[in-house]
Amino acid sequence: MNPAPPTGLVFDVQRFSVHDGPGIRTTVFLKGCPLACRWCHNPEGMRTAPEILVTPDRCIACGACVDACPHGLPSGIDGGWAEPKERCEACGLCADACPTGARRLAGWAMTVEGLVDQATRDRVFYEQSGGGVTFSGGEPLSQAEFVFACLESLSELGVHTAVDTCGLVDREVLLRAAGLADLFLFDIKHADEVSHAEWVGAPNDRILANLEALAAVHTAIWVRIPVIPGANDDTENLRRTAALAASLPGILQVSLLPYHELGEDKRERVGVPGTTFRAQSPAADRMRDIATIFEEAGLLTVIGG
Ligand code: SF4
Ligand code: SF4
Repeated sequence: MNPAPPTGLVFDVQRFSVHDGPGIRTTVFLKGCPLACRWCHNPEGMRTAPEILVTPDRCIACGACVDACPHGLPSGIDGGWAEPKERCEACGLCADACPTGARRLAGWAMTVEGLVDQATRDRVFYEQSGGGVTFSGGEPLSQAEFVFACLESLSELGVHTAVDTCGLVDREVLLRAAGLADLFLFDIKHADEVSHAEWVGAPNDRILANLEALAAVHTAIWVRIPVIPGANDDTENLRRTAALAASLPGILQVSLLPYHELGEDKRERVGVPGTTFRAQSPAADRMRDIATIFEEAGLLTVIGG
């Protein structure tokens, strides 16, 4: 008997994305991540289970979520219409009933067929812009079988594909993905092993070894560097990171992603321990100076996706 086709646990499907690879793309965000970056801007991607996100500013206190919940869980006591997490089954009925989008379900199951069907609706835009579909997260390769099956189907349909990885994955999984994806977006968060562990919860040795192994077999890699004030934006670290990227074949571009305060509220709402980081976005002229460090190392460098 054939095994059941894999399903994915997805927390967002963003159409018309222009920051996750070339052209106009659909970005598929998958749940579950082996890292715990203190500055994470997608904290709803960290856990492996579905969860409800509440945006209190959007709540009009209509009570529809309480009526929809089989257990009557949401409560306006704290003004946020939150539910006790330990009793919530993350069924999403309250989010479906919410008229303002104040409640959102992060994490629902998708079949390969369903995902490919949804993602190919914008195919005409991909073809006109040189775009395609990007798998992101969380760490998309933490749901490897689902991603492999999607990559195979999209590739058969001639759709360009990209995988946005944190790099902390099994080597075998990464190399199998290398045979299926057209482009990799590979994050480097810190060049120093100890600082890396301090800021994101794991050392960088396996990640950098994986990048080297990927670069040996794949010719289209964009290195992505989140520029986080006080964490990894000192000149010495940036020079080390630039030298590392420049030493590898297959690195077509470095993307510098400036820290953005927008994620701060979301981290608070999702409530992942250890992600209460606060900083100001780096100024435009500082980002320009940082770009120069990478350009001087011979790397095509872009600020933003
Ligand atoms: S997700 Fe389901 S169980 Fe949880 S609060 Fe909403 S309706 Fe109730
Ligand atoms: S349904 Fe939405 S808007 Fe209404 S009380 Fe619940 S969270 Fe607030």
